[in-house]
Amino acid sequence: MRCPSCSATDSRVLESRLLDQEATLRRRRECSTCKTRFTTYERVETVPITVVKRDGKRQPFDPHKLLLGLVHATVKSPIPADDVAALAADIEAQLAKRNAREVTSEEIGELVLDRLRSVDEVAYVRFASVYRSFSSIEDFMGELSRLAGKKVSLPLS
Ligand SMILES: [Zn+2]
Repeated sequence: MRCPSCSATDSRVLESRLLDQEATLRRRRECSTCKTRFTTYERVETVPITVVKRDGKRQPFDPHKLLLGLVHATVKSPIPADDVAALAADIEAQLAKRNAREVTSEEIGELVLDRLRSVDEVAYVRFASVYRSFSSIEDFMGELSRLAGKKVSLPLS
């Protein structure tokens, strides 16, 4: 690491400390040449994920927007708020693990639907109606009757 004072590249680490719940490593260094002390930080690189929307437009993945969508979908369901937040965090982590830095909005929607379907059928339909953007009311009703066929009571409010 280049010394900010004399530009020498040899330094000695005086102290290392983990910060931010061990997400950051801070090092105090001393330049071997001029003895200037300086600090460096080491973090895991996080590459932003880009969402490709249905119309081809790209935008940065917004975890808050995902959480908001899930909250709307589950507002009348018995799923506790903590579980909804965990679901959103889980999906975000899954996206971060992928090699691809781009994800389509459909892929995100399907990820959410997969999880929601196993947790709460009503929330699933609500979310599906938004994220899968049913092209017609018939599609939407088709999904509802498919679920109704599974003896699930739906509050059609
Ligand atoms: Zn120096």
